[in-house]
Order: sequence, then structure tokens, then C-alpha cells
Amino acid sequence: MRLSRYFLPVLKETPAEAQIVSHRYMLRAGMIKQASAGIYSWLPLGFKILRKIENIIHEEQARAGHIAMLMPTIQSADLWRESGRYDAYGAEMLRITDRHERDMLFTPTAEELITDIFRANVSSYKDLPLTLYQIQWKFRDEIRPRFGVMRGREFYMKDGYNFDLTKEDALHAYNRHLVSYLRTYERMGLQAIPMRADSGPIGGDDTHEFLVLAETGESEVFYDSEITDLKFGDREIDYSSRAQCQAVLEEFTSRYARTDETHDEALFNQIPEERRRVARGIEVGQIFYFGTKYSEPMGATVTDAEGNKVPVHMGSHGIGVSRLLGAIIEASHDDKGIIWPEGVTPFHAGIVNLKQGDAEADAACEALYASLTALGLEPLYDDTTERAGAKFATMDLIGLPWRITVGPRGLKNGVVELTSRRTGESEELPPEAAVAKIAAIYGVAKA
Ligand code: ATP
Ligand code: MG
Repeated sequence: MRLSRYFLPVLKETPAEAQIVSHRYMLRAGMIKQASAGIYSWLPLGFKILRKIENIIHEEQARAGHIAMLMPTIQSADLWRESGRYDAYGAEMLRITDRHERDMLFTPTAEELITDIFRANVSSYKDLPLTLYQIQWKFRDEIRPRFGVMRGREFYMKDGYNFDLTKEDALHAYNRHLVSYLRTYERMGLQAIPMRADSGPIGGDDTHEFLVLAETGESEVFYDSEITDLKFGDREIDYSSRAQCQAVLEEFTSRYARTDETHDEALFNQIPEERRRVARGIEVGQIFYFGTKYSEPMGATVTDAEGNKVPVHMGSHGIGVSRLLGAIIEASHDDKGIIWPEGVTPFHAGIVNLKQGDAEADAACEALYASLTALGLEPLYDDTTERAGAKFATMDLIGLPWRITVGPRGLKNGVVELTSRRTGESEELPPEAAVAKIAAIYGVAKA
């Protein structure tokens, strides 16, 4: 993409309404624009990152054997009356009446609708296990929408639902989700710690929330510092193996880690004092096992091997897709702007032309652009006539992890400058070497 042809409305001023750094940078970097309280338009840069995050989630869900689908945002109230949640949900539910005076609502989550789909189409244990998921907009009329996309009213969420014959099968689904979420967050450059949590309006017995540590987090968290040393890394996992998934769950949840809702001071105090941590965290996901809470009242049953009709065991699993942009920025920024982890960066590298209009500099930038593109990478080429200082400030603000700077002086010696956004370190090297290095970082090979 050439910056002169892109739509990147960066702001020089810090917007007064933004209280936390991620909100400030998302507005300043031209990623989002508020449409009304807690509701945002996703401008091209923000939208691009949202899509990257979404793709990682799809890839990891597919790896775990879960199946993607899409349900509507507007639902009939009838199903919610069946489960009893139409009244229970309260003011957070946006209720709508259509022209025929029918009660409708904007989905805050989708247990009812998915259960209805299941009961209409599945009747035998032979069709289990089944895990379906979607990534779809949700609406919750939050009493205090704030911090930009962190607590929106409209927000983008991955929600998955497992259907299993027995509790043991459903707990395997729970563990599988825990593993796949660990992988998912790590690919986004995040450490998200599973913490024992409270089930809230979804209901159920077993639940873990995934929290990213950040001072601006809304939850108070208590944990054993050993937990932050755990990495899932690139280990291979067989998702169909109960033992393997169970072992990962035990590894990542055996140490004390709880949110304020379930915190137990006496248990916490059993950890050696030097390992006790009290901090704040951002909830980026949650998994639940809730057994037959929805299948029983809604009649989602299957016949088992003996011919008995039994309600299925279910769980649900959510990732705050739009909130993740804020969480990643909270975890990865400096005073100049965002620092995107390579896994989610909107463009793989920036190209800054220090002397736009200089034939040699222009030609060198075009050549870099062509080489990176040929590798399947997406560069952002600042081909505007802005001053060098302004070009650097924009690149730093929008946070591309790598920048190639091209100027007549370097070109005389046959070199360009490659700069890491994270460390600020630069090196001079021939253009082909810069391309090769970026190709290696992203794991793409020269054709
Ligand atoms: P919270 O406690 O933050 O209100 P929740 O526990 O009610 O969230 P879930 O029902 O578990 O939310 O939804 C799954 C995920 O969706 C959450 O882990 C969170 O990351 C995200 N999420 C929930 N509410 C919002 C919101 N208002 N804005 C943005 N993301 C949200
Ligand atoms: Mg939650």
C-alpha cells in the first residue's frame, strides 16, 4: 500500500476523551472513530488488524477441530423466553420491537440460538462431539462504556459452543478450548493467563477467564508469579488426546491465579510471600462448562447407545476480538506509539522515502516495494512529500515492527537502513539484504 493512496487519518493532538493509552493511540493512529457512545467505525488500519486477529482465531479453531458458522445479530425474544434469560438479562440487553410488534433483541451472546439449531438438526449421539463457533458482532448496553474498544457497547466476539454426550466429553472440549486459546493469544504476542473465575449470567460450574496483565485492566487479579514463566510455545498437541489436553490444563492452572470475584485470601497466603502478586488484568476471553443448563429447558437431547433420550452437555467459549486490539496495545507500546507484534501487524514493514521525487530514491523504494510484495508481504510505502521527521513520527505511531529508510546519502554507498520498532536499533545494509532479513523474520522464503 502506498500511503499517498491510503486512508490513514492520523491525529496530531491527543483526544481529550481518551483516558488510557490504547484508546489514545487507536484514535491518533486513525484506526477507529466513535460513532456514538461505545460504538465505533473501524477505519482501514483498525479494520486490517481486526481481520488479522480474526484470522488467527479461525486458524487455531480449525486446528482444534471446531467448525465456523455465522448467526444473525438480531434475534427473536421467544428463544430467550424459553431459557428464562429474556427477563434475567436486564438492562444490558438491547431490546427492539419490529413493525409487527414482535419482541426482538440484538444478540449479547448466542447460547439460545445455537441450542435451537442443534435441537432441530441433531438427534443421535453418533453426531457428537460437535463444536460450532462464530465471530460476530454483539451488543451489550453497558452502563459505562469506556476505554474505547475495551468496553464498547457494540463489540466483536468469537463465541463457540460444544455439544457432548457426557460430562467427561464436555470437559475434554473445555480443556481443548483452553489449549487452543493459549496458542491463539501467544500468536498475537500476548501472555493471557487462565484464571479461575465466576460464571456470571452464562451460568455453570467450571470457568476460566484469560487475563492480560496491564495496569489499566478493569479486574484485580491475584497470582503466583511462577505462572508468568509458562509458555505454550510451538509444541505440537494432538487435540483429540484427552491426556495431552488435560496435561496442558494442569500445567497452566495448577498455580494460584484468580480474579477478585473468586479470590481466596487464605489460599493465596499459602504461596511463598515473594511469589505473591496482586495486579490488574484485562479479560480477553472466557471458557465455560455448564452441563445441561440450556439443553434441558430447551430440549436439546440425543439418543444414546442404549436408545435413551438424554440432554447434551454443553459449554461456551468467548474471545473478545475487538477488545484484543486494545489489550495488545496496552501490553505493547512506548511513548511514541504502538508496537505491533509481528503476528498481528497491519503491514509487515514500512518504507520511508527521505527524498520523495529524487529519481534514485524513488526507484530504490519501488524496487523494495516490489520485492516485498513478491514475497507475499505487505509493505506500507510512505511516498508522500512530508518531512522526514513527520514520516518517522507516523511510522512510530502506527507501530509497524520494521521500517526501511531510503535516502540519497545511503544509496550512494549502496545501503538502506533497517530499524526495529521495538528496540529502536538500526542497521545499514544493501536493499536485498534488508528484504531477506524481513523475509526471514516472517518465515517467508524467496521464490
Ligand atoms: P466483562 O466481565 O468484561 O464485562 P464478560 O465476562 O461479561 O466481560 P463474556 O460474556 O465472557 O464477557 O464475553 C467474552 C469476551 O468478550 C470477554 O472475555 C471480553 O473479552 C469480551 N467482552 C465482553 N464484554 C465486552 C465489551 N463490552 N466490550 C468489548 N469486549 C467485551
Ligand atoms: Mg467473561
